[in-house]
Amino acid sequence: MATIFTRIAAGEIPSYKVAENEDYYAFLDINPLAKGHTLVIPKKVEDDYIFNLDPAVYEGLWQFARKVAVALKAAVPCKRVGVAVLGMEVPHTHIHLVPLQTEADLDFRKEHPVFTPEQQAETAAAILAEYEKL
Ligand code: AMP
Repeated sequence: MATIFTRIAAGEIPSYKVAENEDYYAFLDINPLAKGHTLVIPKKVEDDYIFNLDPAVYEGLWQFARKVAVALKAAVPCKRVGVAVLGMEVPHTHIHLVPLQTEADLDFRKEHPVFTPEQQAETAAAILAEYEKL
């Protein structure tokens, strides 16, 4: 199943990449809840519902997300990196990682902050640099 996120992971559609390995990819959300809001995906997806994933793919996704969250927290100072799994919009399993200052930063209904493409590129580069140190 080719989704917009499959095409992002393949480099066919541009994204602000923050981390990658053979099977998984992480990039900035296009409509972030906070600076550094990241989406973590399996490059190939058999199902759009995370709890239907093959157990090995599921485990690998969370292992990768943990590493990305460590890099994210190092690059974007925050109290915690919050986690959400929704999938109401894009039918390709993904984990949201959101740097939190307050609980309200994980409210998808709030007004979203706006960042310029330059700011998004700078944030992604900072997270990638931290990821590469791990
Ligand atoms: P959901 O499927 O409900 O978890 O929401 C999908 C998320 O993907 C939303 O936060 C969108 O802002 C984000 N999104 C949709 N298209 C893109 C894209 N091309 N690049 C980055 N993020 C995207």
